Amino acid sequence: MGPHDRVLITAALPYANGNLHVGHIGGSYLPADTYARYCRSAGREVLFICGSDDHGVPATLTARTEGCTPREVVTRYHEAQVKDFQGLGIRFDIYGSTSSPQHAAASQEFFLRVHRNGFLEKRRTKQLYDAQAGIFLPDRYVTGTCPFCGQSALGDQCEHCGKDQDALELIAPRSAITGSVPQVRETTHWYFRQDLLEGKLREWLAAKESWRAPVQNFALGMLKQGLKSRAITRDLSWGVPVPLPEDPDAEGKVLYVWFDAPIGYVTFTADLLEERGQARERYADWWKNPEVPIYHFIGEDNIVFHALMWPAMLMAEGTFQLPANVVANCFVNFQFPGHDEEKMSKSRGTAVWIHEYLRDGDPDPLRYYLTFIAPEAQRTAFKPDDLARRTNDELVGTFGNFIHRTLTFAARYFDGKVPEPGIPVAEAEEVQTHLKALPRLVGVELDAFRLKSAMGMVMDLARMGNRFFDYQAPWKQRKEDPARCATTLHTCLHIVKALAILSEPFMPFTSEKAAGFLGLSAGERGWAAAATPLEAGRPLGAAEPLFRKIE
Ligand SMILES: [Zn+2]
Repeated sequence: MGPHDRVLITAALPYANGNLHVGHIGGSYLPADTYARYCRSAGREVLFICGSDDHGVPATLTARTEGCTPREVVTRYHEAQVKDFQGLGIRFDIYGSTSSPQHAAASQEFFLRVHRNGFLEKRRTKQLYDAQAGIFLPDRYVTGTCPFCGQSALGDQCEHCGKDQDALELIAPRSAITGSVPQVRETTHWYFRQDLLEGKLREWLAAKESWRAPVQNFALGMLKQGLKSRAITRDLSWGVPVPLPEDPDAEGKVLYVWFDAPIGYVTFTADLLEERGQARERYADWWKNPEVPIYHFIGEDNIVFHALMWPAMLMAEGTFQLPANVVANCFVNFQFPGHDEEKMSKSRGTAVWIHEYLRDGDPDPLRYYLTFIAPEAQRTAFKPDDLARRTNDELVGTFGNFIHRTLTFAARYFDGKVPEPGIPVAEAEEVQTHLKALPRLVGVELDAFRLKSAMGMVMDLARMGNRFFDYQAPWKQRKEDPARCATTLHTCLHIVKALAILSEPFMPFTSEKAAGFLGLSAGERGWAAAATPLEAGRPLGAAEPLFRKIE
């Protein structure tokens, strides 16, 4: 097998603490799914890994508010997320949970290797403490004002300027649990000496010429400021226990969620292989095999973890390969007609929830629109009126219309079969030449993670199909020049086939229906097959509308 015949793709682990909105989907899950579908269609062996991050602080906060256990919270949201992903056709090979015993064991083993390799250091430290609740307040258990940008921030990270926070440096800190002003108390933690890896990280990142500029620049910029060693343990009861039973300081401590969460990708890979009847250890065939590129798809808020801390962890552990690319999208904002863009927010009613959308919306128009506005280089805005307009003009009016008119014409005048091509026609040959090259050209865009550009090429093919149909006017050719008419329809049906195959990564439900009209079996739908026309005589199914208009 060649170097890129196997691909490992991961999508960011959502906190098992809430429903998913279109910003989450457009940020990492849809791009990851699109790329994974393309790789499968191109005949590569793909593992597409995701799961819920059950140890995130929000789950314990929700549990406190609702008076239930964190386990109950994560189970409920994990199931809701699975439903949302399925409804949108986001098809992971596995959707695991970081609260499994297998994950605890894998994280502890990873921790111990990093420890043995000399990258952990135990330190006495000061931490905010909520005397009313009787617990320490790491990370998101504290809110306050960001010392860098002056906006409101959480104890671990500022969502406005993206900077890491030291909770002790927050201005006017408050406990997220009781709202009280926290005290400063002493405790002990293990620090990850990622500062020791600065040089190695810089060298590795600087060589990543194919990465998106915002990701590479952000990571290199952080390195320029200098990496601080980072506490990777917490005084909490929910999480993976620190595996140092001989050390009394480790009692009552768990691993920092950002230490254990990315290891989840590895655990879930092992879980998946076990499900498929292989030994768990076979995860190494993917994670420790330099022939397999690893692609992490994430949102912009996770760049610091995936482009710096996780690679540093992998370097410190020493037996894993490093990610081939960290594909990050910016945030998707929200914009009502006539209003300013704003951040998606639950409380302000500016989030479009997937479960609500799917109640009466179809998945493919949303997938199409989110790829169209993909925030690949900068933040973009979700505009409900724009979604409706593009669905009606581009999907119904162009893509769906072309397939419908072609199949309807073939049904009526060619006995519902692919006609034998008649005489050669220069314009039809031009289309054929384009179709021969197109799968490769779209593939190049996809492999460079320019998904919007790749989808644009597929939509352009539908436009080309309509232009060709209009220009050839088969309804006239039928009477005046039947041989030419047969060539026209044969060519249009080839375009329909190419649209069915090449749209699969972007609009899988539509692709499935369109391929059904042509009677294409699974084996006939491989990416490269889009280049070859349908054989004459193949019976065609009846065309049904592929999309519904949005009012
Ligand atoms: Zn800030």
